Parts: sequence; C-alpha cells; structure tokens
Amino acid sequence: MRKYIWKTGKLISICFILAIACAFLPAGKVHAEPVKIVIDPGHGGTNLGAQYNGFTEKYMTMVVANAMAEELKKYEGIEVYMTRTEDVELSLQQRADYAKSVDADFFFCLHFNMSENHTLYGSEVWISAFGNCYAEGKSFGELCLDEMDTLELYRRGVKTRLNKDGLDYYGVIQHCEEYGIPACIIEHCHLDHREDKGRYETTEALKQLGVLDATAVAKYYGLYSPESKKDYRGYDVPKVEVPVKVVKPDDTEPENVSLTCLRVKEETGEVNLLLTGRDEDSGLLYYDYSINGGQNYSGLQKWEAPGNELEFTIKVPADQDILLKCRVYNGYDLDTETETITIPALSGGSRKSIEDTVSEEAGAAGQRAGGTASAAESVSGQETGGMDMPAPEEETVEASGNAHQIDMKWYEEKDAEKEKDEVFITGSDVSRFLWLVILGLLVAVLVVLVIARAKFKKQQKKARYRGRRR
Ligand SMILES: [Zn+2]
Repeated sequence: MRKYIWKTGKLISICFILAIACAFLPAGKVHAEPVKIVIDPGHGGTNLGAQYNGFTEKYMTMVVANAMAEELKKYEGIEVYMTRTEDVELSLQQRADYAKSVDADFFFCLHFNMSENHTLYGSEVWISAFGNCYAEGKSFGELCLDEMDTLELYRRGVKTRLNKDGLDYYGVIQHCEEYGIPACIIEHCHLDHREDKGRYETTEALKQLGVLDATAVAKYYGLYSPESKKDYRGYDVPKVEVPVKVVKPDDTEPENVSLTCLRVKEETGEVNLLLTGRDEDSGLLYYDYSINGGQNYSGLQKWEAPGNELEFTIKVPADQDILLKCRVYNGYDLDTETETITIPALSGGSRKSIEDTVSEEAGAAGQRAGGTASAAESVSGQETGGMDMPAPEEETVEASGNAHQIDMKWYEEKDAEKEKDEVFITGSDVSRFLWLVILGLLVAVLVVLVIARAKFKKQQKKARYRGRRR
C-alpha cells in the first residue's frame, strides 16, 4: 500500500512539473486554435482605387495580398483568409461580413495612397478609435510601420479618423469594430510622389511589401515557421493599453512654431536656418519653406530631428530679396506657418550685417485652419525654381483627385441594424484558462496525497511503536 501511494505521488509530481513547463513554453503563447486573419486586397472590379502613371491600385493590392498570404502560410498556428482572390467588387460591409463569417481575429486591408496635390509621401496605418480594436490596431500598426522602415518608407504614423457621427471614418474599420474585430488599413506608400518610388513599380517590389506585412503579423502573433526557420515566438510586442475613451484624431495645428536665421554665407548663397515647433498630440512630420514670402513652397521635407528643433541650410539666389517663411506639419498633415524673415539681395549694393537686415514681419505668423487636405492647399504645381527644391513630378496620367472618393460613398451608407460588440475569447485565452484549471486540480491532488502519506506514515510509526512496547 505504502509503495503504491509513493509511486502514485511520484507520478503526479512529474505530471505537475510537466504541466508547469508546458504552460510556460513558447513565451506564454499557446494557441489552442490557430489565429485566423483576413487579408483584404483593397478595391476591385469597377472600383479601381488610385490610378497614377499607369498604375492601378486594385491590381497592386492583389499582388501584395497574395504574397502576404503565401508568406504567412509558411508559419504554424495561423489560418489565412482572403476577401477576394479575383478582380471583383465588394462593398465594405461585405468585406467586414466575410471577416465575421470566418470568425477572424484580425482584418488587414491593403491599399496604396495618393494625395490631393501629390505632396505627401510615406506609409501610414489607419485603425479604429475604440477600445480593444484601437489597442490591437495600434500595437500591430507600429510593428507594420517598423517593417516599412526597412524600405526607408517615411513613417506617417498609426492614426484614427472619425466621421461626423463620431464613428470610425473608414467603412471597413467601422464595420469590423461593430463585430469586435480589430482592423487596419495599411497605406503602403504614395503612388504620386517620387520619394516613394522604387517600392511599388515591379511585381517583385509589391511582393516584398506583402512579405513585410506578413512579417509584422508573424511578430504580432509570435509565430514560428518550420519552413523558413523564422521564429518570432518570443517576440516582444509593445503593449498598448485598451483606452477607456475614444482616441480622437489630432485636430490642432503645431504650436510654438518659429524660424530663426542662424547665418548667411554670402559667397555661396547658403542660408542656415533654425526651425522650431511642437505638437504633443501627433508629433511633427514635415516642413516646407518658401523664399518668396509664401507664394511658392518647396516640397515637403522630412522632420528628421528627434526633438522640437531642426536646423537646415538652403541655397538662395543672390540677385533678389529673400522672404523666408516655413510651414511645420503634424502627424495629421495640419500645418502652422512661421513669421517671415527678410534677407536683402546678397549681390550688389552695400552689404549690411545679417543682424541688421533680418527683420520679422509683425503679425505674419498665422495659423491656418484646415482639414487633412490642408497640407497641400497652397502648394502650386510650380515649385520654386533653383536651389534644392524638388522638381515637379512628370505626370503621364492625370491622377483621379482623391483616390478614395469611391470609398467615401461606401463609408456613408451604414447598416441599419448593428450587432453589438461581442466578447471575443481567443484560442490563447481558452488554452491559458484550461491550463490554469488543470494546474489547480493537480495542485489539489498533490496536496491531498502529501497529507494522506504523512497520516499513513504517522499511523505506521504508531503501530510499530505499539508493537515494540508489546
Ligand atoms: Zn485604396
């Protein structure tokens, strides 16, 4: 009997240790069920999406989506679904309904971008402004932009946008949020800006974007690929807290914007400038400058300084008075103008010191209100000539204004009946819960056995003692 109990106790102890080991294995991520994701190639059918220089978005998103799916199929623990594999038109509601029908954990909507005046460049991710959909969207979105960084695509941020009813502006995000499914719109890059060239013109380049999207997903879910040996099981995904309130987009322009002339090199016409600005909400993204008091502006320059100050040098023509002015843009493309600095023509006439000639035009600093399109408002097609300003884009095909106008219509048509958010229990939650129950039971059994064994020993001892006394 004693032997039997001892053996059973040993066995249970081993089970107990194994259970603990299993529970803590792949970095705490045990998916009882595979993760289910939906890839949504934007546009399709008569909905062409952005069109520029012979590129059509609906075909491009398909190539990226296929590459993303193919790459993800190399990983364990994930099921990949696609809203479309053909050139068909789907409404935004249909796309979200599909995600719901497959019980998706995440919805990835793939797009390419264009701006109204062809001024913007870089990658951005749009997400829901609400609850868990925000938290998951933000967390994934940053990983996704990290991947785009590897192609040196400028980081335009992970952002929310609301419609006039205070709901998510983008239809797929709104409809997915209603189903409790986190959704991201990945705007990989801008087709109408030379800064983003080289990232989308070939099938190979598009496939690479798909692989990067897939890598972000693999990192997000801590996946492992036996085929490619890529192992993100211990990948540290920065945690984003679930917000208690709606995460509103930034609707205020940058503050404390000012321009200072540091020095002028008369021989070369180089002017060294210090630009400052601040935006606590969405950070500073771009700046541009004018040498004729704001009639024309340079193309958007990257705000590559980590802080609120940025030093840069421009070359100005020697034969004219220079009226320097800058605009500073935040993460939502809202801008604030600086005051104007005047530098008299460098050549001819008597030269005065820069301290004497630099004057600030009173009241010139003005904030301009505007929507997200304001970034481009006063940039005319004609760029200021000479100097280090970008030349105008050569356009063989005229862009169709706002590439997402077609989407806009869809965003407005909303579903009458709204299913309320459901509580989603993911595979990993279930498995973690089960492990806890098993662990609890094992501990209980072990405790009972230890007590029983101790009692049994005590009784035996007593019996032996009594036996000896007799
Ligand atoms: Zn699009």
